[in-house]
Amino acid sequence: MSETDAPDADDEPRTSERLVELAKRRGYFFQSSGAYGGVGGFYTFGPQGAALKGNVEDAWRERFAVREGHMEIDAPTIMPEPVFEASGHLDTFDDMLVECPECGESHRADHVVEDNTEYEDAEGLPIPEVEEVIAEYELVCPSCGAGLAGQDVEDFNLMFATNIGPGDAQPGYLRPETAQGIFVEFPRLKEYARNTLPFGVTQIGRAYRNEISPRRSIIRVRELTQAELELFVDPEGDGPDLTDVEDVPVTLYPAAEQNAADGRAYETTVGEAIAAGTIADPWIGYFLGVAAEWYESIGVDMDRLRFRQHLAGERSHYASDCWDAESEIDGNWIELTGFAHRGDYDLSKHDAHSDERFTIFTQYDEPKTVERAVVDPDMSYLGPEFGGDAGRVVEELEALAARDRSAFDGDGVTVEVDGERREIPVEKTGFAVEEQTEAGEHIVPHVIEPSFGVDRLVYTVLHHAYREDEVDGEPRTYLELDPEIAPTFVGVFPLQSDDALEEEAREIAATLRAEGLSVTYDDSGNIGRRYRRQDEVGTPFCVTVDYESLDDEAVTVRERDTTAQKRLPIADLPETLAALRSGEVSFDELAE
Ligand code: ATP
Repeated sequence: MSETDAPDADDEPRTSERLVELAKRRGYFFQSSGAYGGVGGFYTFGPQGAALKGNVEDAWRERFAVREGHMEIDAPTIMPEPVFEASGHLDTFDDMLVECPECGESHRADHVVEDNTEYEDAEGLPIPEVEEVIAEYELVCPSCGAGLAGQDVEDFNLMFATNIGPGDAQPGYLRPETAQGIFVEFPRLKEYARNTLPFGVTQIGRAYRNEISPRRSIIRVRELTQAELELFVDPEGDGPDLTDVEDVPVTLYPAAEQNAADGRAYETTVGEAIAAGTIADPWIGYFLGVAAEWYESIGVDMDRLRFRQHLAGERSHYASDCWDAESEIDGNWIELTGFAHRGDYDLSKHDAHSDERFTIFTQYDEPKTVERAVVDPDMSYLGPEFGGDAGRVVEELEALAARDRSAFDGDGVTVEVDGERREIPVEKTGFAVEEQTEAGEHIVPHVIEPSFGVDRLVYTVLHHAYREDEVDGEPRTYLELDPEIAPTFVGVFPLQSDDALEEEAREIAATLRAEGLSVTYDDSGNIGRRYRRQDEVGTPFCVTVDYESLDDEAVTVRERDTTAQKRLPIADLPETLAALRSGEVSFDELAE
């Protein structure tokens, strides 16, 4: 999905520019290794940013792991090559690259197409078609303006390669998603889940993608943080309980609307969308509902969030239904989260490539009597006839009987061993159809995956909270962050530089910290400037100690958004502020 496909995508990204400047100045995020010129796609979260990101991750963990009753793991970020051979990443985790013949800059060919033509889903086009579109529209290099027609478009694998240990005998890769760390441990994780479906495993951690053109600060980086949930379900099992989510309002942009000339996103509820078949899978519907409520709880503006269904060409071939949560940023829609029904793709791949079983034994309600085709070959015939290959012939006969019992209808049966055809008289195979009673079967669970990008969540929360207004005739910038997510919850100040006021203020700061609140103490500059500083980082409340406080044991508490002030007793502060943080009480409701 292009980041520049919304109607006014050509407008200057005003808020983003101001936000990125604020983020650097106030310690939210900035390009890493600046002392050495920096390198594209790597960002450091400063003190405010790291705290905000931590709060978002904690809120995610609380909602998607703890409250859902799922297990969280923490796997390594480097994994050996066979993992990515099995997962398909080595072959297919590619983006389309086109190089400028003049300046040598590399670009994502699908983004060049999407940004400059009416194509919305160039990622799904085959390479020759992308080359044709570039030529037909005479598309140019976004950096220097030179024509790109006639340039080869190539697949570029996004994984960072490394060597494990000295030498290059054991190639490894930095994981491009946290999910593989969960899939490869499935044989062990299923034991912890007592071999019972459904069960979910979550992971929050770093992933690495060698993006062709990282851009828009932390929206497209080369080292990112993901929060992923892999829910393993029995495809024949019960779906989710939708009671808590069916009335959740969601804005949907289904594939049919995207394909229609006058199509548009519209509001509905999770329950209605499932009943109408717009959301095909109830599990996907369940997670869209949970996610919608969660986004709102961390401060995403829900008028600027939609769920967009993948178009047919965009969807991975194994995925039956996929939706992206997208947030609006300066007129562009940015993918925040992917919700995918991945079928049995991941576990089947690892089952086939590794020595372990990626299946679960599911018990039938009642034992079943089934017919099984079996062989019991006459080894006194097979041994002399096929020598060292006899064992392989037996394996092939067993597989053939399970697969196609009609192959044993005639007098002879043929199997292939190492490309050579071997004829065996059916009477020597011991072929029979037997009745067996079975208690259950081994199945490959299906996977439902909500995959969240934490960096883009942080960016969205900041962007949607960005405000400019005027206070006392002066322009002011503030971040209207949710009190539970804001990196700093309260600023504590002495009104003036004075030992007694400073001592009291420090004491209050220490008491509030001991209560678990995130507090900043500031005694530098005039009080107005200190308020502005806290407004800019989004601190919801400030507490000021003045000379009267030393007599009346009360302080001035100021609210960020309205700048309203109230006089409150020092003794009540921990309780009052905790209630303000949890939303139990609003500042308006507080009695002085
Ligand atoms: P895109 O199409 O934007 O490249 P994707 O479809 O490849 O993203 P997924 O593989 O579904 O992304 O990854 C899940 C989530 O991880 C995305 O929804 C996004 O929030 C985040 N993400 C992916 N790539 C990046 C990146 N380079 N920088 C920041 N976040 C990313």
